[in-house]
Parts: sequence; structure tokens; C-alpha cells
Amino acid sequence: MRLSQGHLTLLDYCPRRFQHTVLDSLMVPTNPDLLAGQRWGNRFHLMMQQREMGLPVEPVLAEDPELQAAVTALAAADPSLFEHHERFRQSEHGRALVLNGYWFTVIYDLLRLWDGQGEIIDWKTYLNPRNLNFLSRDWQTRLYCYVLVETTDLSPDQVTMTYWFVRTRDPVTQEQQPQRVQIPYSAQRHAQTHIDLLRLTDYLTQAMATSNPLPQIPETQVEKCAHCPFMMRCQRGSARGDETPELPPLEAIPEVVL
Ligand code: SF4
Repeated sequence: MRLSQGHLTLLDYCPRRFQHTVLDSLMVPTNPDLLAGQRWGNRFHLMMQQREMGLPVEPVLAEDPELQAAVTALAAADPSLFEHHERFRQSEHGRALVLNGYWFTVIYDLLRLWDGQGEIIDWKTYLNPRNLNFLSRDWQTRLYCYVLVETTDLSPDQVTMTYWFVRTRDPVTQEQQPQRVQIPYSAQRHAQTHIDLLRLTDYLTQAMATSNPLPQIPETQVEKCAHCPFMMRCQRGSARGDETPELPPLEAIPEVVL
């Protein structure tokens, strides 16, 4: 079975949500505002990939002033992102690793390698940046760094994960002002991630070996169900009765590769 950081996030958060989303492939309605944000994000990622491949992006930028402004602001904030001085550099770079009977897959928005140093770049296109503490604990950071160390000769302290929130604006001038959050990796974090991956995969293997659905969050932690799209199905929180469940914010929706 293939697992991404989105799967790990779901499984860690609530096994039943993993069941509904991954094992049962249940669909939930998507908020139109979120869809518009996702479309912009897709355009940004595609444009950056085309640019890395040496394809002309000017026609795309000419038709999207916000995209143009985001790229201009990013180049001003860190010109090295648009230079090519690395030993290896590739956008949409995929890697995979087998551990404990599962395939772990990652796709880096941009991977930069120098001798004895590696940097994973991730473009974030939603409006509200996450802080260092949140991102350090996030499964995306943990899995992305773990896989890079396990599949290269880099040691953990030679790896960095950098998030660029490319759509943020200066609160006063409202001009595009991308924000960077850089997270250094370490041997201690690598060891802890290894332990947690084994814990989650052992749990999943045992849970799927039974004919029962994976368990819900305990009643004592029902507040964690507050923004879950499966509240009604699980009869949790304010979704009991006829109320429509609130959809989660865009950034709360993990990437799930089915
Ligand atoms: S409503 Fe709660 S128990 Fe049910 S899937 Fe969502 S988070 Fe899990």
C-alpha cells in the first residue's frame, strides 16, 4: 500500500477519517472559494515547473497579474531561487521508499542539492502562513526530510526544508510579500520520525487485519471532530441532527494521493 504525508496526517489525526477518505474513498463537497484557491495554486505550481524546464512562461504571466506579482516578489525576496548554482536541481521531483511493508512517496516542488547539503522547497499558495512550530510537526516536513535522508548520502543535519508562502501580502501596502519558513533537520528528528512511522504502520497493518472499521476519535476528544466533513456520518458534535457541517479551511485539507 502506498502512503503519502496526507495519509499519515489523516491516520495520526483520526483512524476513522483515514478509513472514510482512503480505504472507502468517500467524497466530500468542496467549498467553491477553496476550489478557486486550489486552482490558483495549481497554476502557480505548473508555471514554476515550466520555468524550471526552460519553457516560456511569459504568456502565462501576462494573463495573470497576481501570478506575475507573486513571481516578481519571490525573485526579489530570494534571487537564488531563480539561479542555477546547485549540483542538482529539479522541480516536481519524486522519491519513494519502502518501510515496514508500505510505499512512502513524496514529490518535492523543488529539490536543490549541493555537495553535502540538500534543500527541499515547497510552495504554499494559501493566504495564511503557518508558523515554524506547526510546520516542524507537520507530516509533510517530517516525511519529506526523512525520505531524502534515506534515499541519498546526506545526513540529517545536511537537510533543510523551506516553505515559501508566495501569496501573502504586506498588511499595510497590500503588496505581495512572500514569507519564508526554513526548518533544519537533525539526527534526533530523523530517529523520532522513524519510530513514529513504524508505530503508525504497525497500527495500520493490525487495524486492517480485522473486519472492523478503523476506530473513531474517543468521545473525550470530540472537539477534534469540529471541522471534520464526516461529523454527521460519525454522529459527532453539532452535526447531530440537521445541521450542515462546516468545511475545513484549505490548509487543513491534507494532500491525499489515492
Ligand atoms: S467526525 Fe471525528 S471520529 Fe468521525 S472521522 Fe471525523 S474526526 Fe474522526
